[in-house]
Amino acid sequence: MRCEVCGKALFEKISANIDGSRMLVCPECAGAHGSEITEFSSAQSVQQKQSFKPSARIGISEGLDLKQDFGSIVRKKRQQLNLTVEELAKKIFEKESILHKIENQKIVPSDSMVLKLEKALQVSLLEKLQD
Ligand SMILES: [Zn+2]
Repeated sequence: MRCEVCGKALFEKISANIDGSRMLVCPECAGAHGSEITEFSSAQSVQQKQSFKPSARIGISEGLDLKQDFGSIVRKKRQQLNLTVEELAKKIFEKESILHKIENQKIVPSDSMVLKLEKALQVSLLEKLQD
């Protein structure tokens, strides 16, 4: 791979915008002639973008879903353990108000929240999906 402007062998290639067209150039030419297009500046960042799946559920296997009465399960288990909402919130580093909402099923906890609650309360909040 050579710089498309000066022809020098490229050790560090930079995708730059030169006279309106995207070219692979050396850092010197990028600095002298164009503006760097940072999102294409390294192969590594492209790879990271490809493997990133924002819709993937974190930590919870497929085919599992939150139990319908997750709120009362959390409340019952918390009471069994003699924890106040505040104490449980501190234990899992969450806001008390969020825990209240989860117990009252006003919000659906995120996957990471479910995992934290399960760990803190030693309880299962997930069940297998039924077809
Ligand atoms: Zn060059």
